[in-house]
Amino acid sequence: MKKPTVAISACLLGRKCRYDGTDNYDPKLLGKLEGCELIPFCPEDHAFGTPRPTMDLIATEEGTKAISNLTGADLTPPVAKYARRFFDEHPGIDLFIGKDRSPSCGVCSARLYDRDKRLIRSDAAGLMAREAIERGIEAWDAEAFIAAHPAPPILGS
Ligand code: SF4
Repeated sequence: MKKPTVAISACLLGRKCRYDGTDNYDPKLLGKLEGCELIPFCPEDHAFGTPRPTMDLIATEEGTKAISNLTGADLTPPVAKYARRFFDEHPGIDLFIGKDRSPSCGVCSARLYDRDKRLIRSDAAGLMAREAIERGIEAWDAEAFIAAHPAPPILGS
């Protein structure tokens, strides 16, 4: 039987690719994914390196954009390009698990602001997660995935 293939935020696996050079290592989550083939991704590290300034999702007339909190630059294109290429290169992904609240990886937990930095909603999809959703891939925030799968591992469940 083919192992389930899971695209997962690299920081959840312990890669120190967060904006400040730390990780979000989550052994509980990994226990639930035992036996799966894990394919890590980090669009922000790829596009901007680590450490890096933070960015936020901003609702604009041209749609949702990732805007640098340091410079105000639109950082959407390199992240969106990475996301498209990642899924093009990995067509057999069964599941996407993203780090909660990330403007790139959060699935239903990213914060979306208006141009004046007023919070519009806290259940938006980050840019990478949005690409997964648009391609019809089952997508979960890590915390929700853990809560919904109390007994590890998920294989055979
Ligand atoms: S949440 Fe996504 S973009 Fe941020 S460090 Fe983790 S993998 Fe990279």
